[in-house]
Formats: sequence, C-alpha cells, structure tokens
Amino acid sequence: LKEEMNRSEKMRIIGELAASVAHDVVHGFMQLLGSDKIQESKKEEYLQIMMAELNRAQSIITDYLSLAKSEIGTREQVNMEQLIQQIVTIVSPLALLNGVEIRCSISMTELPYLHTDPEKIKQCLINIMKNGIEAMTNGGILQVNVHKRSDDFIIDIIDTGIGMTSEEVKQLGMPFYSTKEKGTGLGTMVCYSIIRGLNGKIEVTSQKGKGTCFSIIIPAC
Ligand code: ADP
Ligand code: MG
Repeated sequence: LKEEMNRSEKMRIIGELAASVAHDVVHGFMQLLGSDKIQESKKEEYLQIMMAELNRAQSIITDYLSLAKSEIGTREQVNMEQLIQQIVTIVSPLALLNGVEIRCSISMTELPYLHTDPEKIKQCLINIMKNGIEAMTNGGILQVNVHKRSDDFIIDIIDTGIGMTSEEVKQLGMPFYSTKEKGTGLGTMVCYSIIRGLNGKIEVTSQKGKGTCFSIIIPAC
C-alpha cells in the first residue's frame, strides 16, 4: 500500500510539472507580447508557438484527467456495454479523421455489469483507443472485443497500425515515453496505473508493421 501511495504521489507531481511547463511558456510569451520591446514581425511567430503550447497543455490534461481526481474513486454497478458504446462515440471523430473504422463485438453470457469506477475505466479505454487510432494514420480497423472469462472482464483493443518491436512494448507505461511529435507520453502510464488500482492487468502483443492488441483484464470482484 505504501509503495502504491508513493507512486500516485509521484505521478501527481509529474502531471503538475508537465502542465506547468506549458503554462510557463505561454505565460512568458504573453508578457513578451504585451511589452513594447518586441518587433511587430515576431508577434505572429510567438502567437503560433503559444497556440502549439496550449494544444500541448490540452493533450496533457486529456491524457491525465482521471488522476487529477481523487485516487480512491467511486465504485458502482457499471453497464460495460453502455460504457463502451459511450467511449466509441467519444473517439469516433478522431477515427473518422484518420479513416479508421471502429468495430465492436460484445459477447456476454451474463449481464454486462462490473462493480467499478466508470470514470477511470473510461479514461483508460479512451487513451488506449486513441493510441490505436493514432497508430493508423493511413486508415484501418479498430476492433473492440468485450467478453467475460470466469471472474474476469476482458476488453481487447486491436489495431491494424504501425505496431511495436518488443523493445518498444517494454517502454510502455513509462512517463513521457512517446514516439509522436505531439505526444505526451502520459496516456499509457495513466492506463497502467488505473488498471493496477483495480487489481487488473494489461497485456500487449504487437508486431511491427502489422498492428497491436491491448488486452485489459479486470477482475469482476
Ligand atoms: P502518446 O500517445 O502521447 O505518445 P502514450 O503513453 O499514450 O503517449 O503512448 C506512448 C507510446 O507508446 C506512443 O508514443 C507509441 O510509440 C506507443 N504506442 C502506444 N500504443 C500504441 C499502438 N496501439 N500502436 C503503436 N504504438 C503504440
Ligand atoms: Mg496516447
């Protein structure tokens, strides 16, 4: 328990740091723009940098959202089928933009309820689906499979994107590890933390140039 608390404390600090870096840059430029020391011709360039930094801050906040909230979180009966439909709706504009088709297969022999924190699950699935979509810049299929195996809920998120080497897979979850020009490197870290907090686990299989499968396994009790 102590270790877990230290970890979440550390992550809170990382998040605050990352967000404050972007904030400081923008704040600095705003002061510059307000002063008469700056050339007219430079203003446009500074505005562009500010916009880019604001977008970066926005990405950090999006990837990081649920950790800023209370660590314990509420637990309630969550209809996973409905929750996943909601999440698909949230990520579908991004999918459309990348030419990605999202396919869902939900096979439940019992009612699809899980006693859990819906906001945390949502944050985690959004981050993983976003990564899947971003791995398919030339389009593809994002397959979401949901099923139950004994007492576990399993959500597979499978993309047909760029894939990863085993070395790259090992880096997943490390703060600020990103291969993207505008990446935060916080998305998977947040997911691993959330799923660990629910006593679940994430398994990743990937093949460079072929695609990736993230399996999220959450114990039902
Ligand atoms: P970000 O998306 O901001 O880069 P993440 O923590 O969400 O940060 O992901 C970290 C890195 O893991 C990505 O930059 C990418 O290199 C790799 N990655 C994650 N998911 C996938 C995926 N589905 N396909 C290929 N690479 C992935
Ligand atoms: Mg990401």
